[in-house]
Amino acid sequence: MSEKTAGTPKGSKPSRIRPPSHLFRLNKVTRSTLLIVAALFLSFAVRLIDLSFFEYYLYDLHYRLRPSPTPSGNVVLVLMDGKTLDRFLEVPKFVPHTEVFKNIMRANPRAIAYVTPIMPVALGGSEEDRAAASPTGDDDQKIAFADELRKFEEVYQLTDTVASKDEAKPQLPAPFSFVKVLSAPKTADNEQFAKDRVTRRVAVDFENELLGHVKLAQMFNPKLDGEEPLRYTFDVLGTRQAYIDYGRPGSIKTVKFEDILDGKVPAETFTGKLVMIGDDFQKNLANMIRTPFNRSPVAMTYLDMHANMVETFIRNSAPIKSPSWFDFLITSIVSLITIVAVLTMRPAKGLLVLLGTLGGVVALSGIFFMPFGVWLPLAHPLLAIFICYYFFIPYRLIIENRRSWEYYQKHQLLQQVEVLKTNFISMMSHDLKTPIARIQGMTDVILKDSPTPLTTGQREAIDHIKNSGDDLLRFINAILNYAKIESEGVELHTESRDVNELLTSVIRKNEFLAKVKNIELLPELEPLFSIRIDPELMKQVFSNLVENAIKYSPEGSKILITSEERDGHVVVQVADQGPGIPQDELANIFMKFFRSRNAKASPIKGSGLGLYLAKYFVELHQGRIHVESQIGQGSTFTVELPLQP
Ligand code: ADP
Repeated sequence: MSEKTAGTPKGSKPSRIRPPSHLFRLNKVTRSTLLIVAALFLSFAVRLIDLSFFEYYLYDLHYRLRPSPTPSGNVVLVLMDGKTLDRFLEVPKFVPHTEVFKNIMRANPRAIAYVTPIMPVALGGSEEDRAAASPTGDDDQKIAFADELRKFEEVYQLTDTVASKDEAKPQLPAPFSFVKVLSAPKTADNEQFAKDRVTRRVAVDFENELLGHVKLAQMFNPKLDGEEPLRYTFDVLGTRQAYIDYGRPGSIKTVKFEDILDGKVPAETFTGKLVMIGDDFQKNLANMIRTPFNRSPVAMTYLDMHANMVETFIRNSAPIKSPSWFDFLITSIVSLITIVAVLTMRPAKGLLVLLGTLGGVVALSGIFFMPFGVWLPLAHPLLAIFICYYFFIPYRLIIENRRSWEYYQKHQLLQQVEVLKTNFISMMSHDLKTPIARIQGMTDVILKDSPTPLTTGQREAIDHIKNSGDDLLRFINAILNYAKIESEGVELHTESRDVNELLTSVIRKNEFLAKVKNIELLPELEPLFSIRIDPELMKQVFSNLVENAIKYSPEGSKILITSEERDGHVVVQVADQGPGIPQDELANIFMKFFRSRNAKASPIKGSGLGLYLAKYFVELHQGRIHVESQIGQGSTFTVELPLQP
């Protein structure tokens, strides 16, 4: 047995209505072209905005998130710091410097580069600031230190000063004038780029002459001498520059100045290495820099900075900035996706796509940077997403607004049509009722009061007229009820009644109809308490079920009508041995004007309103009506009315 409660019909979902905007009325090709042009235009406009500060902030984030690159292992740092000051009660003088130099030399280093000025003069730039870090001592000690340095060809002094071709090269004064001075300027984004004073770049050459960091790196990567091009450089104010491939502070091997003096550092530490000697006395800010890792003015020592610069060239791993055309492409694609998402997608999906795009671009940039050291600028694509979003949202709102206006108009019109229709039906039906009643009255008069006896033919004809009149009246009543429901005009007039009493009256009324088809009506009514119902409406419901059972059942069959109390409900069932209702039609039989295919094909008359009204009336009583049916075996309609509504 299959069961189906009355429900909405299949296929009643409203079809999607095309957005009415002019943009969406254009054909596909024109629409796509317009969107692409808008995206290109917007990305072009967005890229005119200077976002350096934000862009470099994002650039720095890449460093903070990625693991430090593995150092080449060719650079060792010798650090003088606060502890060194404690040890010597001042800045180390020539004597300890001589000792440390000798100790390093014993291990055969590749080169020794002094970041701390050996002498605080003649190097220009920040000499005053850095004088505090230079060794001091009497002339003998100075000469002794100079004599020691002279023994090694590869001793260098780094300086910030860069001399033009027509200027004198920076040089240390006697007795250190033999020391090779390398121009290794510090750069910081003071006036250009992010203007946040962070050191991100290293100068490669000046007036076509290689600067100190590259020269030092060439000792370990000789190919840098033109054979192997630097990975990525760009021009800034007449110099070629590269981005520093920073490791975290402390990632390059560092030993303490005083530990070398005390012989605590194994000799092989320096063998074949570039040894850079510098300080972290924190006496002034000029010896410190801000880095992508940290914006504090004392984030990194000069020593660490120079080491990172040299390491960048030894590894030849300067980050590559993606070309402009590629940035433009990414910005345009992102703009296009945003515009399409805002204009065409449902809000939830659009938001998901936007978040996906946002995440996608950020992830792409991360993936490019972490393993490959390629920097994909993010600021313009991100700004493009926001601008496109806020630019096109109002447009979308206008579209939506117009769409709801059109829906509203249509809805109003439909409502008016519906009212007109209902009024018309009710007026028509009402006016039809009077002539029908008159016809029925006249047939009764002829049948009962005819002065001359009627022939059999005449009697049959009059019977036909009477039956057709009954059918028509039923039909008109159903339509009138329907019209009442549609104009929300049905009211319940409840009174306490025994449902069995109603059923008995309905059965009695239909006995003749059943007899004509030789159908047996079998009532099995259990005693019931009276409940509050509208007797007229419920009579109509039961009548309809019994009439349908008689109408659709074959001759000689039986109809069982039962009533009982169950679970706080009065339950009435009308079960027949009729043809049953096909599975695919079960869901629809309570719909207005629905008639099954078989019923329509048969001579059995009906309006398709009976069950619709029955369901409506039962639900007015807060009850439930449903049907179980099987083809060829019959149908059982069940009405459940609450004992206490
Ligand atoms: P109608 O005026 O057509 O009988 P109803 O709303 O009363 O309208 O019934 C809707 C349809 O449900 C009918 O057309 C018929 O196909 C089907 N139906 C109703 N009752 C029965 C029944 N007892 N046996 C088989 N089919 C039925």
